[in-house]
Amino acid sequence: MPERKPLVAANWKMNKTVAETESYLGALSGHASQLGGVEVVVCPPSTALAGACAVAAGSGIQICAQNVHESESGAFTGEVSIAMLAELGVAGAIVGHSERRRLFGETDEALARKVPALLDAGMLAILCCGESEAERDSGETEAVLRRQLEADLEQVAVGDLGRVVIAYEPIWAIGTGRTATPEQAQEACAFIRELVAGIAADAAEALRVLYGGSVKRDNAAELFALRDVDGGLVGGASLDPDDFLAICRAA
Ligand code: PEP
Repeated sequence: MPERKPLVAANWKMNKTVAETESYLGALSGHASQLGGVEVVVCPPSTALAGACAVAAGSGIQICAQNVHESESGAFTGEVSIAMLAELGVAGAIVGHSERRRLFGETDEALARKVPALLDAGMLAILCCGESEAERDSGETEAVLRRQLEADLEQVAVGDLGRVVIAYEPIWAIGTGRTATPEQAQEACAFIRELVAGIAADAAEALRVLYGGSVKRDNAAELFALRDVDGGLVGGASLDPDDFLAICRAA
């Protein structure tokens, strides 16, 4: 069975200027040598990516974007391509975050192109999925995860599937202070791994499945210890470098 290196990613959303990003990463880089057992990823806003890459260089901390466009170039006002990110030293991107799906119309069709395009470029694809509160209440959680992941992973080569990072993010737990119980998180993350096992058993063993949704320094260890949880995607609590460091140490 392959060893899965835990991964903890900070999703800053639309927070922090270039100066704030550089000061945060300067502080976090000073502790990076204590985080050897964890893959640490920070996802600042796009304006701060270049500065973040420069400050984090050589520290082992990876910088990822919060979104990327699936096309190589063209008439897509406001968008950024994979090659543009790679030029800065960006290691990958979060795709399919529920805020982008809900507020900005990111579709499964676009995600089905984004995920393989990132993998083809040798980059990290952190694919988010998760159900709304109404969907959970009506017993549709597994159907929603199946629908999203079957669509979003459809064009990923079987040999690349194990490199995808899937973040299970129940929408009702994002930014609400309500965390999934360990049972709910384990059940959903195990279901995601089983879905992938249905395509390729070895990929399912290699695949990192993260939990996201109000992860904090005082609940991270319990969540990250779950059998099918290989780390976390952290929003609000990642804005403070001490909190984020404590969460990374819990992985
Ligand atoms: C997120 O936005 O991906 C997230 C998990 O946010 P929070 O940790 O604030 O719930």
